[in-house]
Amino acid sequence: MCGILGIIGKAAVAPLLLDGLKRLEYRGYDSAGIATLTNGHIARRRAEGKLGNLEALLAREPLAGTIGIGHTRWATHGKVTDANAHPHVDCTGGVVVIHNGIVENHQELKQRLAAAGHAFASETDTEVIPHLLEQYLKG
Ligand code: GLU
Repeated sequence: MCGILGIIGKAAVAPLLLDGLKRLEYRGYDSAGIATLTNGHIARRRAEGKLGNLEALLAREPLAGTIGIGHTRWATHGKVTDANAHPHVDCTGGVVVIHNGIVENHQELKQRLAAAGHAFASETDTEVIPHLLEQYLKG
């Protein structure tokens, strides 16, 4: 279980995403994270622990952007750490993913993707998704 939402807005979405995550926090409080898109660039803020930690991080390091996604994590694969907090990205930083649930064949996919040169930055099952998309986008 997790809290998951996305917004395509007209004004900065980070405060709206944070507000939405507050309403969804009961669905996962191991960590929380937000990613936004600004001028073709994706930026993330992630924090282990309750949503207040992400809120404090965003106060120190705000995120611009009118398109974004947010996640509160209920960890199933990988410890409760900043590195395992969603959103997760591919090697280029151009594919960003939040995910609810379990990728059952993540070990097999991770082995295959690592052999193809993908570098993983977390212990989660989720991270195989952006790398798999990257692999297919490469053609
Ligand atoms: N399996 C993923 C993880 O452990 C997602 C868990 C969730 O639904 O919050 O990071």
